[in-house]
Amino acid sequence: MSADVIDGRAFAADLKQDIAKQVSLLKEKHGLTPGLAVVLVGEDPASEIYVRNKNKSTVEAGMNSYEHRLEDTVSEAELLAVVEKLNHDPAVHGILVQLPLPKHINESAVIDAISPAKDVDGFHVINSGLLATGGRGMVPCTPLGCIMMLKDRLGDMSGLEAVVVGRSNIVGKPMAQLLLNENCTVTMAHSRTKNLAAVVGRADIVVAAVGVPELIKGGWIKAGATVIDVGMNRIGNPDGKTRLVGDVEYDAALAHAGAITPVPGGVGPMTIAVLLKNTVTAACRQAGITEPEV
Ligand code: NDP
Repeated sequence: MSADVIDGRAFAADLKQDIAKQVSLLKEKHGLTPGLAVVLVGEDPASEIYVRNKNKSTVEAGMNSYEHRLEDTVSEAELLAVVEKLNHDPAVHGILVQLPLPKHINESAVIDAISPAKDVDGFHVINSGLLATGGRGMVPCTPLGCIMMLKDRLGDMSGLEAVVVGRSNIVGKPMAQLLLNENCTVTMAHSRTKNLAAVVGRADIVVAAVGVPELIKGGWIKAGATVIDVGMNRIGNPDGKTRLVGDVEYDAALAHAGAITPVPGGVGPMTIAVLLKNTVTAACRQAGITEPEV
């Protein structure tokens, strides 16, 4: 048996097309152009690439993109002032502060300064609370992208055993919550979990969000399980070059899983597409209108 490969690039491309159609309808019917502001502090090369891609995708979808670049010496107070200004800017419907921030800045303070309605990353404590209590908030992009791919593949997930490996606030915990909302029986595994192989082995759905290259061995995967690999780990090759691998031993897992996301080309492309989706959602909610169906 060889698993079906879940093509995140194709899924994200379809989603982006739908978003572009929604944006065009919003402009035509309501004179509303969703706007996303991205704040980048310092010159971290990986963050630079993410921000560039986010801006490009925002513009391609027909939305307004606002970029705010600040020196890495910026004070927390100055950064908070930028966020506050964006909170009150009616052209800005979504605000994203690219993480990580320099060490002298308290990340939680900055995230919690973003208006929850404009928090398109879904990291604000109010939005995590709404997700946990079944309310209507903004949901973090990466887990939302994962659950969309899972629903597309599996349909009704009621009663399935789901194991999420990793319990970060931005991926693992919201992922577990979303699976619980789909009526899965959810187990969260982490660095203190005993016998991870056995825990993973009973799962119909495995979501790996750890950051340890190929931690989840292919042979652990239950036959036919659906595997979503969030991990993005850069490792060295013997030839001195580097390559990106996930948290799952991909080639070995192909022989056991029913379906699996590759790295790269799985979860990664979905994250930006969902950011655009969240920006449209935020803009519609702020304008008090229903999201156009496409
Ligand atoms: P964090 O470092 O915040 O969390 C990692 C989690 O993994 C922790 O809960 C930790 O447990 C757990 N963990 C660490 N080692 C082990 C182990 N040996 N066994 C079991 N659990 C372990 O990472 P993130 O959640 O931010 O990211 C996880 C991965 O996903 C990274 O590779 C990251 O690059 C990637 N990522 C990809 C995105 C995408 O768009 N594709 C977006 C966001 C992240 P404990 O809590 O006990 O320390």
